[in-house]
Amino acid sequence: MMNNVLRDLDAVLFDLDGTLVETNIDFALMREEMLGVAGEFGVAPESARAMDILAIVEYVCDTLNARGLPERADEARREAMRRLERIELFHSETAREVESAQALIAALRDRGVKVGIVTRNCRRASEISLEASGLGVGFLMLSREDVRNTKPHPDHLMRALEILDARPDRSLMVGDHTMDVEAGKAAGMRTIGLLAPERPRDFFRKVEPDEVVESLREIVDAFVDLDS
Ligand SMILES: [Mg+2]
Repeated sequence: MMNNVLRDLDAVLFDLDGTLVETNIDFALMREEMLGVAGEFGVAPESARAMDILAIVEYVCDTLNARGLPERADEARREAMRRLERIELFHSETAREVESAQALIAALRDRGVKVGIVTRNCRRASEISLEASGLGVGFLMLSREDVRNTKPHPDHLMRALEILDARPDRSLMVGDHTMDVEAGKAAGMRTIGLLAPERPRDFFRKVEPDEVVESLREIVDAFVDLDS
């Protein structure tokens, strides 16, 4: 089964945070800050509670635009990004490599498989965390500033594959969140969910990735099997 996922790959796209690097970005605080921005700009935060962090920002801007207040919408977006970046940057400097991330990237490069990163984080924080973790910045990386539609929208991944000149059906998306798997499947890619220790065992059940692994080491080992 794993063999079919790894055979004849053009490219592998990775999520960054929680997949290649561990930054301990405080996502709960980010969400609270975004709901705070909603309130400050006169948009009732209640309807945004169930949304993901970046969707809250879009909701606030759309609401203000619909009220005929485009300048306020721009202002809200700038304020939201300023607050998100502050939190992201704070945690990026202490980022650590996720176990076996370097080994997996090396295994892919040995086989001529292209590697890219697709992240909803901002570019600066992403680069800082890649440097701090020792992975370095020699990757194609598309952060949230680089695309109009971020994950879970498949455009984010399709754009990366286009730049890497890789076919979606010959490419693999690896991520630790259900939206990574959703985006990968919507882009027509193969998918692997990386199950973090604190997640429930059935975390990926609804989105049905091709494989679920508990460590990137399992993918490295599967490559060795593939070669033998
Ligand atoms: Mg992640």
